[in-house]
Amino acid sequence: MSRKKKVLIPMPKSKFLKVKCPSCGNEQIVFDHASFPVRCLICGAQLVQPTGAKAKLLGEVVKILS
Ligand SMILES: [Zn+2]
Repeated sequence: MSRKKKVLIPMPKSKFLKVKCPSCGNEQIVFDHASFPVRCLICGAQLVQPTGAKAKLLGEVVKILS
């Protein structure tokens, strides 16, 4: 039996992003693979549109937090 050194690199398929609301400018943390619509906590504008795989971001991405 050979012992292969297995290097498991964590491949996060999903990220957390900081998105700026296009309506009120509120910056909010959203999940980029959200399977449900994410709304702005301040004004209620939709920030993330679920598409099945990667969610579509409707606001401006300010920062990527992974
Ligand atoms: Zn807003």
